[in-house]
Amino acid sequence: MNDHVDELLALYALGGLEAEETIQVEAHLAECPECRAEAESQKALVNLIAQSAQPVEPPGLARARVLRRTQPPPTPRPARALAGWWSRLAPLARQWAWPVLSSAAIVILLVWNLRLQDELRFMQDQLDRQFEDQQQILNDYRQQVLAVQQQLTAAQENTVRVVTAPDTREVALSGSEALPQASGRAYVDSDKQTVVIIVEHLPPLQPNQTYQVWVITAEGPQPSLVFAVNEKGWALTTVEVPVEYVDFYGLGISVEPAGGSETPTEVVMAGNL
Ligand SMILES: [Zn+2]
Repeated sequence: MNDHVDELLALYALGGLEAEETIQVEAHLAECPECRAEAESQKALVNLIAQSAQPVEPPGLARARVLRRTQPPPTPRPARALAGWWSRLAPLARQWAWPVLSSAAIVILLVWNLRLQDELRFMQDQLDRQFEDQQQILNDYRQQVLAVQQQLTAAQENTVRVVTAPDTREVALSGSEALPQASGRAYVDSDKQTVVIIVEHLPPLQPNQTYQVWVITAEGPQPSLVFAVNEKGWALTTVEVPVEYVDFYGLGISVEPAGGSETPTEVVMAGNL
């Protein structure tokens, strides 16, 4: 059971084994899926070669332990070369009869072709896998872009809805004494839960600083989101006001250390509802 018969399989596929060995091989094949698979692929190959060389009758092969005696198979060449070689061999075979061509040449052909097929299969697998990986990366990227687009669209829609709603309140924000040129407007929607803030002429800050929005209630200024202005000192930001602060009466903007603060450090803009 443990002695694989792979070295007999090429001859077996060609019908070149003696009866005794045929029995031995078939007994092993019945129990060994590995060798069975190998035998099937060799058989398929023999059929293929038989079809591609139609005029030549399959030979009654002389019995030979060819694999052991012959040199290793030639180094692989492109698969197409095989057909050319075979067509040159075929007339020769007819002329000199099969025993002269020798079963060794046929087995070399078989082994060589099997090896080429393995190589091709391997390359195909590699290509398939690379293609799948790239498809995956591309798909992930598309998904991300789509998600960002959807977020942007939702934010823009929300901004437009708040700014254009008839019952939205518009609040002027003015700069402190230190920043008199700064100006801005806040658009507070009817339920006071969304505020769109547009500011102009606020100087861009150092990386370790940030602007922060404050919602001013009876209990004092409540910290809200942080934002940056572009190089022209312009920013548009949308603030969601927590339900417990919807009775706020003012808005402020301050300069804070990066990340924001719990209480305002330096208020630079403010406005009352
Ligand atoms: Zn086996």
